[in-house]
Amino acid sequence: MTANAMTALPPGSTIGILGGGQLGRMLALAAARLGFRSHIYAPEADSPAFEVAAAHTIAAYEDETQLAAFAKAIDVATYEFENIPVATVEFLSRQIPVRPGAKALACAQDRLNEKSLARELGAVTAEFATIDSLADLENALDGGFAIPSVLKTRRFGYDGKGQAKILTRKDAAAAWAAMRDAPSILESFVDFRAEVSIVAARAADGTFAAFDVTENEHRNHILHRSVAPARLAPDVADEAIGTARKIAERLDYVGVFAIEFFVVSDNDRDRLFVNEMAPRVHNSGHWTIDGALTSQFEQHIRAVAGWPLGATDLKAAGAEMINLIGDDILAWSEIAATPGSFLHHYGKKDVRPGRKMGHVNRLLTAAQG
Ligand code: AMP
Repeated sequence: MTANAMTALPPGSTIGILGGGQLGRMLALAAARLGFRSHIYAPEADSPAFEVAAAHTIAAYEDETQLAAFAKAIDVATYEFENIPVATVEFLSRQIPVRPGAKALACAQDRLNEKSLARELGAVTAEFATIDSLADLENALDGGFAIPSVLKTRRFGYDGKGQAKILTRKDAAAAWAAMRDAPSILESFVDFRAEVSIVAARAADGTFAAFDVTENEHRNHILHRSVAPARLAPDVADEAIGTARKIAERLDYVGVFAIEFFVVSDNDRDRLFVNEMAPRVHNSGHWTIDGALTSQFEQHIRAVAGWPLGATDLKAAGAEMINLIGDDILAWSEIAATPGSFLHHYGKKDVRPGRKMGHVNRLLTAAQG
């Protein structure tokens, strides 16, 4: 038993979820299946999660009056969005358990902390340097930092936002300008053959369980397709799982999280580079809803509620998820009419280019992987 352990919350208890997007919606659906009520807390009035939850609060993450009322109405809190202020989690933690805790959130909000932790635990990452000014960037490049490289804001980046490529020394000024003075990190460009992720969970009693490593294909910096299992040698897949486990243990993590890796081919042997961590359920784990014995959403609710983790085995030889971005969602009726395609529609009213509107899952036979 760890300090995090608690007795299992019984069905009928209320799980508070900070963030009202599709991840909150799918968490609330999974919670309902286990007999829990969900209370969503989000600033946006049209949050997709509100429609499937027993209660919701529309308020800013900094509103302590509303946060205090939220804490009184729930039995445990979690979050579906990693950019909520750490102070919000700390505030709630003084009143109720919040899982995962503030330590994990603070680490995952900062690319520098994430990469430093991965290295400390023996994992490989791209080379990196802290950049707080144009002078820092010029010094790094003049000092031999590899080009091409990628400059990224340390915080609040997602789907390729807050990033600039440096292909020649002349790109430095424009890349720094794109960071808008935000504390940044310079990373060497990794020439990867594939991107993979591991979605795993750690329970309140320290039990750990990982889903199959997933291979991810991006289009325009947005996840397009995920396939599990990833095409990796078993020892390389085990290394990904081992790294995830070490990170979770170090952060005293409770809940589901994802680690994204680059796979680099090195003399016919694959090497894994840790790219980043998400302290939440993850888009590359959506295939688990139809493809695994327990979905990542149920797994997260189990962990947060102090329940034992569910089995993570694939239900078939493989599983695939394709995101429905923007207008892709207009094909919903064709997808619904296709045998073996599992449609997930997030109920978002406005279709916008680049917006995640839904996804479709499919089970694969060995030959289709
Ligand atoms: P991130 O926001 O760090 O996940 O980056 C978004 C995408 O940009 C990744 O999925 C990669 O395709 C690409 N990328 C980011 N960092 C690097 C890097 N150091 N080397 C090569 N590609 C990168």
